[in-house]
Amino acid sequence: MERTFVIIKPCSLQRGIVGEIITRFERKGLKIVAMKMYRFTREKCAEHYKHLVDKPFYPIIEKSMMAAPVLLLCLEGIDAVAVVREMTGSTNGRKAAPGTLRGDYCMSHQENVVHASDSLENAEKECARFFNEEDYFEYEQSNFPYLYAEDELK
Ligand code: ADP
Repeated sequence: MERTFVIIKPCSLQRGIVGEIITRFERKGLKIVAMKMYRFTREKCAEHYKHLVDKPFYPIIEKSMMAAPVLLLCLEGIDAVAVVREMTGSTNGRKAAPGTLRGDYCMSHQENVVHASDSLENAEKECARFFNEEDYFEYEQSNFPYLYAEDELK
């Protein structure tokens, strides 16, 4: 099983679509293993978006990510990183495919509803950046026997 990291961005909280976004992940069959509300600081934003800190549009990212609280999720499933990335869609909501979160819920390159880890390595780093050991919950997903075929679980 793989784990990935998702941020439901401030724009989603303000627009009242947090529940719909979480529902999409639940319906897909991803297991929520950690989830919490969080407010970005300037330091944490710069750490999370360090690959973009030198870009001219970084101040817009910072303002947007600190505009309201966010929801942080750790989701588990087979190939969870790639599955959630596919569900997220391309960065610019105007170009994201219909059926993806960004394709269905936004019109913006920046106010693009969610962040999702782009690799297993980054998922591990991002989970560690935002979650502590006590944030994770162990439980059985009751629909688990109906989510995967036996040979996929070997
Ligand atoms: P993604 O979120 O699809 O992995 P990036 O890691 O490239 O994309 O960018 C991180 C975030 O920075 C984007 O989700 C978006 O909010 C913002 N961003 C990226 N590129 C731009 C841009 N050209 N203009 C404004 N915001 C941008």
